[in-house]
Amino acid sequence: AQGFMSGKRGLIMGLANNRSIAWGIAKALAGQGADLAFSYQGEALKRRVEPLAAEVGSDFLVECDVSDEAAMDKTFEEIKARWGKLDFLVHAIGFSNKEELEGRYIDTTPGNFALTMNISVYSFTAVAKRAEALMAPGGSLLTLTYYGSTKYVPNYNVMGVAKAALEASVRYLAVDLGGKGIRVNAISAGAIKTLAASGIAGLRDMLHWQEANSALRRNVSIDDVGNSALYLLSDFANGVTGEIHYVDAGYSVVGMKLLEAAEG
Ligand code: NAD
Repeated sequence: AQGFMSGKRGLIMGLANNRSIAWGIAKALAGQGADLAFSYQGEALKRRVEPLAAEVGSDFLVECDVSDEAAMDKTFEEIKARWGKLDFLVHAIGFSNKEELEGRYIDTTPGNFALTMNISVYSFTAVAKRAEALMAPGGSLLTLTYYGSTKYVPNYNVMGVAKAALEASVRYLAVDLGGKGIRVNAISAGAIKTLAASGIAGLRDMLHWQEANSALRRNVSIDDVGNSALYLLSDFANGVTGEIHYVDAGYSVVGMKLLEAAEG
């Protein structure tokens, strides 16, 4: 496809299936002509990712578990070998043990705390460092976060603490890479029923509450997130970096709805 992303090449990390936020983003980018590479976690996911990549015109797949430094090195070596450059990167990866996405945050174990921080926070910094070497001015990095970083959300627990750290790292990375003209932003997406989100206890209640209480009175889709990601990854957002951009149907701006306002 021709479009305003024609000639740009980017790596999408975190595609698991057609409900993934990474899929919404990939479709939007491909629709504007971007060339895409995909990294997936482990052989088991390859069968899922391959046909999706083909749907958006890509046969460039790399296996990359972000807990493995050597796998990350190899991923960027392959990109260098095939493309010689990278224009954008999407980090749509997070993980915490399901047993700790319920109950009290205070019961977090040191092992899962470290694991959650490593996969959900450090990995973005680790891939940003490797991407820097392949990016020219105009390069753009994007990660995904959630409002549970900022306010208490039941069952989100250690993931909320990790997302707060991820958002802080967006600001530090924005300055570290800003001198080279590389931008770093996050989208804070409203809750969406994906594989990862299904690990959070009470997801159904979260979705109902959000739908009833957001400004737009609806939940967001992976396509809503994809279209906003397209802007942040494109030259239209050339002046935007270090930003946490909410794509949540206006949920986070509502403190308390007036009854008549809620009906309007
Ligand atoms: P998803 O399950 O489709 O994607 C999560 C991805 O993380 C999967 O592709 C998985 O393979 C990958 N991953 C986990 N551990 C990994 C590892 N060690 N190495 C490499 N990859 C690994 O779910 P999603 O909801 O699309 O999640 C994408 C991002 O969006 C996550 O950061 C998530 O926290 C964030 N997010 C999700 C929501 C939501 O409600 N779904 C809301 C806001 C933010």
